Amino acid sequence: MTTRLDPTDVVVIGLGGAGGVAVEPLAAAGLKVIGLEAGTRLTSRDFAPDELRNNFRGWPHAAQKANREIPVHRPNAAAPDNTRSAIHPMMNGVGGTTLHYWAQSWRLNPWDFKVVSETTRRYGAGRVPSGSTVEDWPFGLEELEPYYDKVEHALGVSGQAGNVKGSIDPRGNIFEGARERHYPMPPLRGTEFTDLMGRTAGRLGWHPFPGPAAVNSQLYQNRSACLYHGFCNRGGCHVNAKNSTAVSTIPRAEATGDLAVVTEAHVTRIDVDAEGRAAGVQYLKGGETYIQPAAVVLLAGYTYENTRLLLLSTSAAYPRGLANNRGQVGRHYFTHNQGGGVLALFPHRLNRWYGLPAQGVAVDDWADDNFDHSGLDFIGGGNLWVYSDQRPIAAASMPTFGRAPRWGSQWKSFVSENADRWVNSYLQKTTLPYEDNYLDLHPMVKDPLGDPVVRITADHKDNEKRVAAFVQDKMEQWFLEAGAVATLRQPVGTMGVSTHAYGGTRMGDDPETNVVDRWGFCHEVPNLGVLGASVMGTSGAHNPTLTAQALAWRTAERLVASWRTIAG
Ligand SMILES: Cc1cc2nc3c(=O)[nH]c(=O)nc-3n(C[C@H](O)[C@H](O)[C@H](O)COP(=O)(O)OP(=O)(O)OC[C@H]3O[C@@H](n4cnc5c(N)ncnc54)[C@H](O)[C@@H]3O)c2cc1C
Ligand code: SF4
Repeated sequence: MTTRLDPTDVVVIGLGGAGGVAVEPLAAAGLKVIGLEAGTRLTSRDFAPDELRNNFRGWPHAAQKANREIPVHRPNAAAPDNTRSAIHPMMNGVGGTTLHYWAQSWRLNPWDFKVVSETTRRYGAGRVPSGSTVEDWPFGLEELEPYYDKVEHALGVSGQAGNVKGSIDPRGNIFEGARERHYPMPPLRGTEFTDLMGRTAGRLGWHPFPGPAAVNSQLYQNRSACLYHGFCNRGGCHVNAKNSTAVSTIPRAEATGDLAVVTEAHVTRIDVDAEGRAAGVQYLKGGETYIQPAAVVLLAGYTYENTRLLLLSTSAAYPRGLANNRGQVGRHYFTHNQGGGVLALFPHRLNRWYGLPAQGVAVDDWADDNFDHSGLDFIGGGNLWVYSDQRPIAAASMPTFGRAPRWGSQWKSFVSENADRWVNSYLQKTTLPYEDNYLDLHPMVKDPLGDPVVRITADHKDNEKRVAAFVQDKMEQWFLEAGAVATLRQPVGTMGVSTHAYGGTRMGDDPETNVVDRWGFCHEVPNLGVLGASVMGTSGAHNPTLTAQALAWRTAERLVASWRTIAG
């Protein structure tokens, strides 16, 4: 049976990091918003410090939808599909993946918005890697700054500013673009280990600083400060010190009375009217089909689902998928080059068994275009990040650095002595979109509803591999200077299913090469907005979520300001 519901102003598909932010300015403006969320509301009981459940079994009770539609990856169009992973890292629930993410809350740096023009200006034509489809963003950091600021204060972000109104503070990131004001909270505290690494970076002449985190360093919005007990790397916070949208923007939007949240609502299609405008959505709940008409639809189901829902929503007006008459949906896809860490073994304990991965020390000297690339064979760079957080199973899964066998009593005694003496690093690096990296629908693999899952065809290219090798050199240098007795480089890997997936619905002024316009609304379907990193055309060297959230807030404010034009 199909039930046609009363029309609403705005329907938001997915209440995670991006959709969960957009609902606050929409509801505050008095628009009637319906948030359709495939997952449930998770309670603090779901946020147990349980490494087996959180990190290995992938929240089997919660991430049901995501696990039923895991994309299939192949590195290129001639290669066979890789084996599909058993669990999806993303979350289904009110708050989405911000429930269990690390909560590093970075702004992009100025260069990330102008990769093509700045590279050409500084190094001449021909330095942008061939085959890359990278474009400058339609605006610079200064346009997004007010929205970064709003989101940092709406969620609660702890951090040390490095550039307030052009005044540089060496305690923060001296490479960041100018911000209007300080973070709403001071940074999370350091640990013995991160302090050691910070002192060491300073000795090398680098500029270390504590990274920004959507985690309370003090009481904020009447929610607790972080207790630093850890286990929230893929775990939720049971004292609500981690500022997911489930405890910040979504409840405030609901309190206005103008946001109605419908949980366990799986949107299957976006409908269009006779003029080719978005008319609303179809969703499944409890085995029933519902049609929710809306004046405006905002799609916020994360990169893979954003792309999939558009491609699945075919009609006479859009036979190749919604907003895809120019064949741009699925293009310009890339996953952050965040593999290829460097591991290190120290001759003493590091006490990393407490704390959280957003509690660490960063170095941006080798990120973006913060150093001269004249004699180098790549553009871009990486953020070096070392942090606290070590859980028992992960600790015991340590490599032996060639100093012991991988089994037996010698292995046991090596692990027992060194489980708290080794450390990983997190190296996020510039990643570019390329002509032959893309998403489409898999021709054979389907979800239980019979809809094809996403197929990822993508791999890192030479530029990404060269950046990775360069950044690993820097990380090794940092560890060795800090007293490490051995280091180990990890492989960069490929562009499989990722927690940092970009593109597919890229933003730009040119409708021939981009799906959404500079405000986040589809060039072909003006009352359909897309929220999330799927609209981002560059990654920079920092996590995507704060940027996706700033863009989502901006799209929502644009909708409020131009309601009559967009809603029609
Ligand atoms: C372990 C981990 C650590 C991470 N750490 C960081 C970090 O430190 N910093 C950072 O910036 N990023 C981090 N990320 C990435 C971050 O979580 C994502 O960038 C962010 O959550 C994306 O926001 P989103 O709204 O696009 O997707 P999500 O937050 O995943 O939200 C999408 C929502 O849409 C719902 N949905 C999907 N399809 C449908 C449908 N058809 N109908 C209805 N609802 C639907 C989902 O259930 C989900 O709730 C991390 C991710 C993981 C998994
Ligand atoms: S370490 Fe902090 S953010 Fe993580 S669960 Fe504990 S209180 Fe919450």
